[in-house]
Amino acid sequence: MPMIRARYPENWDEIALQVKEDANWCCTQCGKPCRKPGVERLHFAFCLMITYPEWFPITSEGEEEKPQRFTLTVAHLDQDPQNNHPDNLNALCAPCHLKFDALFRKANASTKQEWFGQMKLEDLP
Ligand SMILES: [Zn+2]
Repeated sequence: MPMIRARYPENWDEIALQVKEDANWCCTQCGKPCRKPGVERLHFAFCLMITYPEWFPITSEGEEEKPQRFTLTVAHLDQDPQNNHPDNLNALCAPCHLKFDALFRKANASTKQEWFGQMKLEDLP
């Protein structure tokens, strides 16, 4: 499910940018270097080849076909988007973020349904 922007603070973009900068644009889980916004793909691929050869060459599953694999995201460790304490935030590449969130998927789906006004069975009269 996509993120519900209204559950995040107004300055979420600034908070997330700082977390990514603090992580030097690398995933804190797997160490993968990620592409900063505005960096052209070819430039990113070249820098990757020079600076992080272990992540190069980009395979058929890599940058060209799935550029989101090199997108850095910010995860809430407790899954609460309103808890933006630095200790609760972690810079993760998209695949690591998906794996992390999968652990909470069922609970999150319920929370998001409630956010959109769907009642729980136990709430029914
Ligand atoms: Zn990762």
